[in-house]
Amino acid sequence: MITAARLIAHQSVNGKYQTRMAMDKFPVLGHQMTHSIDSFITDSANSATALYTGHKSSVNALGVYADSSPNPLDDPKVQSIAELFHEVRGGGVGIVSTAFIADATPGALTAHTRNRGQYGNVVDSFLNGITNYTWPSWTGPDVLFGGGAEQFIPSSKSFQGKDYYQEFRNKGYNVIQNNTALQAAPTTERSLGIFSVSNMAKWLDRNVYKNNTQIPKTSPDGSSAAAVDQPGLKEMTLKAIDILHKRNPDKGFFLMSEAASIDKMMHTLDYDRALGELLELDDTIKATLKHLEEIGELENTLVIVTADHGHGFDVTGGVDTKFMDAQTSDRAKRNAVGTYEQSGLSQYMVANRSAPIGSDQNLVYSAGVDFPVNWDPRYTLQSGLATFPDHRESYRIHKGSVRVPAINITGFSSNDYFLNYVDAITGFVINGTLPVSADQGVHSLTDVPVFAQGPCQSAFGGVYNNVDIFYNIATCLRLQRTKAGH
Ligand SMILES: [Zn+2]
Repeated sequence: MITAARLIAHQSVNGKYQTRMAMDKFPVLGHQMTHSIDSFITDSANSATALYTGHKSSVNALGVYADSSPNPLDDPKVQSIAELFHEVRGGGVGIVSTAFIADATPGALTAHTRNRGQYGNVVDSFLNGITNYTWPSWTGPDVLFGGGAEQFIPSSKSFQGKDYYQEFRNKGYNVIQNNTALQAAPTTERSLGIFSVSNMAKWLDRNVYKNNTQIPKTSPDGSSAAAVDQPGLKEMTLKAIDILHKRNPDKGFFLMSEAASIDKMMHTLDYDRALGELLELDDTIKATLKHLEEIGELENTLVIVTADHGHGFDVTGGVDTKFMDAQTSDRAKRNAVGTYEQSGLSQYMVANRSAPIGSDQNLVYSAGVDFPVNWDPRYTLQSGLATFPDHRESYRIHKGSVRVPAINITGFSSNDYFLNYVDAITGFVINGTLPVSADQGVHSLTDVPVFAQGPCQSAFGGVYNNVDIFYNIATCLRLQRTKAGH
């Protein structure tokens, strides 16, 4: 089962393509509403709690009802779908994310705290469960793959300063730290794969602008090396399925696999990297369905693809970047934007298979994988969020690194953000609509799609609340109480 979180408004991105994405071919489509108990805009802790426990909660809360005491670990707790499934069915659990693994979406499967920032505690909960509560059955996941070595290397950032690589080894885990080792890893052992110090490298940087992965001190072993051999979401997910399938031939498995950087790149207004992550997610879905079929489990597996919230992202026209570069005033640069009949068709959409690779004419489908070959065409999309900090916009790819739209300025307070001139030198100024303390975009109230296929798929059609996804999965897995006292 895959709950791939954080889907951007995929129709607008998909509009660049002439074929449907893998998720678009799922037989059932629903919409979930994401508001919480005490706020109509959710964060990822709050929404993960709703999706995993069937209880709406509060911003920053993982698997608890937030109380008013200062202790972040004493709040009333609710059991997650992974804990329930493991307790009632005895099956295996897999947790995969391209984020640092203590982040909210993976963390909420086992952590119970009012404060999602208790990262050391979150990592300990993966291994040991809740130590001061009455659910005794959690014995750790079969698979834990992602970034975030910071909470594993012994330091002030790890729980009680302990070495969590060693803690996992002590409980029989095979510890993996790069893609080569991941591919070679046996499917018989419980496996911990940590592939970078913090969030993992983005698809665009791993595959197109590869020099961007040469960042010292990102290696998961805590050395000064760069983490240059990182797997993608697809490699992690397929390996996770093989391990879960091998280890749980009779009792089945639950897998949560998250394309985390769709959201992270939306926050930094880095829409090209978000698109790369989204296409990688879709490629992962395609490969997952194929692999489930190969191992004879496709018809036994409920696959759900959804997001935990939206970002108010949309596409409104096309941009002639060459024309924009040639103008000198902000008002003239805005004439590079074409709307309605002047929007034309983005060059990402032109699949000219005879054009040479790298020319600005083509989107070549290679080996059935639908990634653009040219990420820097003259005609780009006018895309953006509904709300944002002060920034400049050129509607062009940021080749050197992840985008930084707003920065501090010397002499001003650290929560006073201004546009970052070098982020889009040839672009024009867009005045922010968020408080000046915001350096990124924010989540929005939009409903998000739910794609479902497999057993119980029909339960996921229509419009419903995010908590209903928990109840639908729990019912499908027959986790509900069947008689009083049971
Ligand atoms: Zn977010």
